[in-house]
Amino acid sequence: MKNPNSAGNMVTVPAHQPPPGGYDCIIVGAGPAGSAAAIALCRAGRTVQLLDRQNFPRDKICGDGIPPGSLELLYELGLQAPLEKAGFYPVEQLHFSTPAGQLLKTRFRPKKPGMGFFVAPRRDFDYLLQQQAIVAGAHFQQAQVKGLLRQNGQVCGVQAEIDGQATTISARTVIGADGCTSIVARSLAGIKPAPRHRFLAIRGYIEGLEIFSHAAEFHWYPEILPGYGWIFPLGNERANIGLAMRADRLRRERRKLPDLLNDFLQRPAIKARMRNDARLSGVATWPLNLASQQRVQRAYDGALLIGDAAALIDPFSGEGIHNALRSAKLAAGVIDQALSRNDTSLRMLKQYEQLCRRAFNPVFRRSYWLQQCMHHSPFLIEGLVYLLRKNPRFLAACANRFSLDFHFEAAY
Ligand SMILES: Cc1cc2nc3c(=O)[nH]c(=O)nc-3n(C[C@H](O)[C@H](O)[C@H](O)COP(=O)(O)OP(=O)(O)OC[C@H]3O[C@@H](n4cnc5c(N)ncnc54)[C@H](O)[C@@H]3O)c2cc1C
Repeated sequence: MKNPNSAGNMVTVPAHQPPPGGYDCIIVGAGPAGSAAAIALCRAGRTVQLLDRQNFPRDKICGDGIPPGSLELLYELGLQAPLEKAGFYPVEQLHFSTPAGQLLKTRFRPKKPGMGFFVAPRRDFDYLLQQQAIVAGAHFQQAQVKGLLRQNGQVCGVQAEIDGQATTISARTVIGADGCTSIVARSLAGIKPAPRHRFLAIRGYIEGLEIFSHAAEFHWYPEILPGYGWIFPLGNERANIGLAMRADRLRRERRKLPDLLNDFLQRPAIKARMRNDARLSGVATWPLNLASQQRVQRAYDGALLIGDAAALIDPFSGEGIHNALRSAKLAAGVIDQALSRNDTSLRMLKQYEQLCRRAFNPVFRRSYWLQQCMHHSPFLIEGLVYLLRKNPRFLAACANRFSLDFHFEAAY
């Protein structure tokens, strides 16, 4: 099999034999969470079966914005060389437009070189990570997981379909990294998130729209609050464009996402930038499980949930990639320790819950407050933006106070 090595060059990887006693861990889903967890566990010397219902490269419906902090985590996993070689499109400015039409622009640079905010088509980004998981030693198999195997209440593998054949695969632990529609989460908890804790989103790729070079745009406007529309540049006059709206509002108002995307493109500030031959492609919709929902259990006897399967999407920004990577790192550490102690019970694995609470809750609380503010009291946001626009140095100071990753240089 041909795969890239850690420097991104293609090499031949020998066929992988399943270990005699079964895998240490089955990871369901080879998105950023699953591949990152696989790399971390393989680096710790564990045997990993990585399963995904799709073969790679594959598309993932997303804004393609790789948030700050993500690269740092990936560099820690040893992926600096292939990521630098991939040359994803760097973002250096953020443009926000508010429901009342105020415009706020900030320019920034990452505090550590090379570790900024990037836009990367998920087809390429996820493929890179999945390939690096294989290089690290994970055995990748295209398989649709249908359920879990249990022994005495302890998860000990999965039921899956491979090439149309039902099969079972055993392992000492299972990680559910299978995204917002996670079969692993449903098998473990059976909880469906309430519509007010879900965004439904639509994304497309646009050519022929005037793009502000290296600027990620966020457009909040009344028809979709507390959701927003985005334009994330990919270079060569191409951008990822889309919008997210809370599922309860979408349902209540009986709106359709394709109509809303059309309305977004017709907004005067966007339409004026559109060439006659502008072309939209790859339009598709997908849900986001927001971290505003309470009581999400993420650790079980023999199993952990990470990334979107664990409902770790920021309730304000809708970003989930950084949290997916961070949860993968935490889960891999806890599972490695549990395997060393030969105790993969909930009692041992539940420390992952504590680590998640510590890592994510302060940010999620702040983000949920901002989302609620946008929903019920957007005038507060307008007032804040008004003050920040009046005083760019104050804006930079505020931004720098909260940002661990960026130094904000100017606001205008
Ligand atoms: C429209 C949209 C825009 C977004 N924009 C951004 C953004 O710009 N920045 C950002 O940070 N986040 C964004 N997000 C969120 C981001 O996409 C997710 O948080 C991120 O993909 C989570 O990674 P993950 O690995 O947990 O799950 P995923 O990336 O969803 O990967 C899950 C994997 O599991 C596989 N799988 C699913 N079910 C099974 C099964 N039964 N058996 C086997 N395999 C299975 C899938 O094929 C998939 O490969 C956006 C989301 C949407 C919907």
